[in-house]
Amino acid sequence: MFTKVVKFGGTSMANAENIRKVADIVLSDPSRRIVVVSAPGKRYKADEKITDMLYQVFHDLHLSGAIGKVFYQIEARYKEIIAELGLNVDIEREFKKIKSALEHNKSKDYAASRGEYLAGVIMAAVLDFDFIDASELIKFREDGTFDAEYTNDVAKARLEKAKKGVVVPGFYGAMPDGGIRTFSRGGSDITGSILSRAANVMLYENWTDVDGFLTCDPKIVENPRLIDELTYRELRELSYMGAAVLHPDSIFPVRYNDIPINIKNTFNPSYKGTMIVARQSHKSARTVTGIAGKKGFSNIFVEKSMMNNELGFVRKILSVLENMNISVEHMPSGIDTLSVIVESTALQDRVSQVKEAISAAVNPDHIEITNDLALIATVGHGMAKRKGTASRLFAALSKADINIKMIDQGSSELNIIIGVETADFEKAINAIYKEFYVHN
Ligand code: ASP
Repeated sequence: MFTKVVKFGGTSMANAENIRKVADIVLSDPSRRIVVVSAPGKRYKADEKITDMLYQVFHDLHLSGAIGKVFYQIEARYKEIIAELGLNVDIEREFKKIKSALEHNKSKDYAASRGEYLAGVIMAAVLDFDFIDASELIKFREDGTFDAEYTNDVAKARLEKAKKGVVVPGFYGAMPDGGIRTFSRGGSDITGSILSRAANVMLYENWTDVDGFLTCDPKIVENPRLIDELTYRELRELSYMGAAVLHPDSIFPVRYNDIPINIKNTFNPSYKGTMIVARQSHKSARTVTGIAGKKGFSNIFVEKSMMNNELGFVRKILSVLENMNISVEHMPSGIDTLSVIVESTALQDRVSQVKEAISAAVNPDHIEITNDLALIATVGHGMAKRKGTASRLFAALSKADINIKMIDQGSSELNIIIGVETADFEKAINAIYKEFYVHN
C-alpha cells in the first residue's frame, strides 16, 4: 500500500477541537500512516505557543532556581485538551517526570522538546496509533549536527517494523549520549521530511493553517494568488528571501527520492493546496512563480580601473570580509566595478573599518558603502524559457518610478534579484506583482 507522511503544525494541534479535525483528516485516508506533530500553537492571536512557554519555563528556572507558574499554565492547557477529548492519558505523571528532569539540570532543548513529545502522546491516543519517541529515530552527532545517514538507517528499520499507524513528535531527536537536541524553530517540518525519506513514501503532506504558498507576502500585496506548484529550488530561493510556510531545510531529505510535499490546510482540507516538487510538471506554467524580498542590506561598492586584469582582486576583498566574519549575500560586478551586498546588521558600526581594510587590500580608486538597500527576488523556472522577462520586470519598475540600484540574475535563470531603496520596497513588489499576475 502507498504510504504518506502527514505533519500537522501548531495551530492544527492548538486545542481539542482542532485535534479532532486532525484525527478526521488522518483517519479518512488509510495511506496516512506516519503522523508527525508540532506542539500546540496559538488558539487565538494574542495566545502563546507552548514551545515559547517552555523556553520561558527554562529561563525562569535558571534565573530563580525554581519552576515558575508558566509550567503549571502549560500543564493546565494539556489537561484541558485531554479532558475535552476524553482520553485516558496519565498527564500528571508526565508532568511530574518533566518537572523533576528540569530540576535535575536537563537542557534547554529538552525543555523545548516536551511540547512535541506530549502532543505526540495525545495524538497517538486519539488515533489509536503507536507512539514512537523521536529520540529513537532522529539522531544527532557529538558536535550537534544532524546525522542524516545514521538517522535514515535507524528510522527506516523501525518504520518497516510498524504494524499499524505511528505518531512521532516533530522538532527533536537524540544526541549520542541520549540527551535531547532540537532543530531550529519550525523544525517539525524537517522531521516530517526525514521520515518521508526513510519510509520512501509517495507523498509528504504538510498540514498547516493556510491554503498554501502565496505568490507574494499578503502584508504587501492585497490578496495575492496562491502558488499551485513550485519546485524545491524555487522554494529555497523564496524562503531565503523571507517567504515562510515551510522550514527551508525540509527540502534536503525529500530530495533523495524526489518525494513531493503537499502544503494543505487543516481548516480547508478539500482545497488542493501547494505542491512542492523536484521538477516542474506542466509546460504552461507561469513565467514567475513567486516574488519575495527582504530589507536591511548594505552595498559595498568598489571601483578600480582594470580591476578585471588584476589577479586575486575579488578573492582579496572576500578574504577581508571573511576575516571580519561578514557573510556575502550577492556580488554583482561590472568591468571596473564590484558590488558586495551584505546584511547591514553584519556591518553594524564597522563601516569605516571595512572600508579601510578593503582599501589596504586592493587599493581601489573609489569605495563607498551605502545602507538602506532592499532586495527583491522574482523567482520562476519559467523565466529561462521565455524571452523578455527581465525587460518586463524593469519596465514595470520604471513605470512605477522606482530606481533600481542593483541587478543580479542568477546563472540558473531561476531568479532575478534587484536592489531598491528601502522606501521603495513595497511599491516595487506591488509593481512586479501587477505585471506578472494581474496583467495576464
Ligand atoms: N514547536 C516548534 C516551534 O514552535 C517546532 C515546530 O512547530 O515545528 O518552533
